[in-house]
Amino acid sequence: MELHQLYLTKNLCYVKGSIMTPRGVMVHSTGANNPRLGRYVGPDDGLLGSGNNHWNTPLPGGQQVCVHAFIGKLKDGRVATYQTLPWNYVGWHAGGGPKGSANRLGYIGFEICEDGLNDGVYFAAVYREAVELTAHLCKTFALDPLANGVVICHAEGAQRGIASHHADVLHWFPKFGRTMNDFRREVRQTLDRGGV
Ligand SMILES: [Zn+2]
Repeated sequence: MELHQLYLTKNLCYVKGSIMTPRGVMVHSTGANNPRLGRYVGPDDGLLGSGNNHWNTPLPGGQQVCVHAFIGKLKDGRVATYQTLPWNYVGWHAGGGPKGSANRLGYIGFEICEDGLNDGVYFAAVYREAVELTAHLCKTFALDPLANGVVICHAEGAQRGIASHHADVLHWFPKFGRTMNDFRREVRQTLDRGGV
């Protein structure tokens, strides 16, 4: 994993700065064909490349949205992770359902930047990056990735009634033969190997 940090300090979510105890991880993907981190994370630090409508603004696209990290491509095409909120800040990534909101239930949320969802090389790189990021978070906050409801994607959060109705990442991972159970198992294996 290549982990950088650029907090979205102008985003109202960061400004509000509500504190939580991390209890889980929610995996998202962006739902738009733009694998470049610079689309979402800015201003350009020299590695990101420039994007003119990143999320370091009070309400990106007029919406209350903010996540803890993005995974995608640097300017040079390398896949990396940018942490964009302190891990113990309440994010705005899940919306809510009949049983509440994952945001307020302690879920760290990160986005994987989507491409056209047809590139196996890009998928393998961001999937591996996401496994390693999740393993890092599980280690940091003493979370068991195989425990019920600890590591989930947005669609699973919706099924559990704690997130809005979105398909991510179940519209993407299965195209390349991966389920969320595979993902959780690979996070566990990465932890067991001491690889984070
Ligand atoms: Zn999502």
